[in-house]
Amino acid sequence: MRSIQQQCTYCGRTGELTRDHIPPKNLFPKPRPSNLITVPCCETCNASFSRDDEHFRTIVACTEETAQHPEAQKLWEQRILSQLHRTGGSAPHELIKQSFGSDATNVTEFQIHEAEVRIAGVLVRIVKGLHFFEMGVSLPISCEVRFSLDTNLVDVGGPAGAISVFDAARGSRGRDIGDGVFSYRMAEWLGKPGGTIWLLVFFKSLAFLCSTAQETGNAPDKTIIAVMP
Ligand SMILES: [Zn+2]
Repeated sequence: MRSIQQQCTYCGRTGELTRDHIPPKNLFPKPRPSNLITVPCCETCNASFSRDDEHFRTIVACTEETAQHPEAQKLWEQRILSQLHRTGGSAPHELIKQSFGSDATNVTEFQIHEAEVRIAGVLVRIVKGLHFFEMGVSLPISCEVRFSLDTNLVDVGGPAGAISVFDAARGSRGRDIGDGVFSYRMAEWLGKPGGTIWLLVFFKSLAFLCSTAQETGNAPDKTIIAVMP
């Protein structure tokens, strides 16, 4: 199947292209849903993703709240336990410490550490992929992707409340994929060149608020959601 855009969504390379799943398909236990999103991607980019995807899945599926979700529990049974065993495995709490700093005793409190480039890299890729999927064009190279450190979004009623805020906003778009595994919502950031705002929710309980913009500015926060039309 040939894609309409004959360019890699991430690096712009042309030529032989494959498809990349957004979010990574390893987040979905089998049997996988039929409405997974894919975007055009070159072989080089695609080959570079798999280890980070595995790490991302382990972290995202093992927070105190996400681990309670039935689909996350299926992932643990199907994949993650054997993955940890195979890699000589750190226990989940060790992985969390490695990823979010030694002070993190409870992942619901975690902040994305600046050094945690692998997690950040997957989030940026998800935003870029969804940007192409929703807008029909790749995010311009001049645009930055930023994300909020508040993964609980307490002030807007948690991830579910944040989804409601987006759903009530005129012109917002989004999808729910795979029995609560992943939901996203997006809206254009009015008055901001290259500006879009994204809510990414994993297992209904872990949320990242992301934005794109051409110029450096403040990271997105609750204020921005609150003023959306
Ligand atoms: Zn590429």
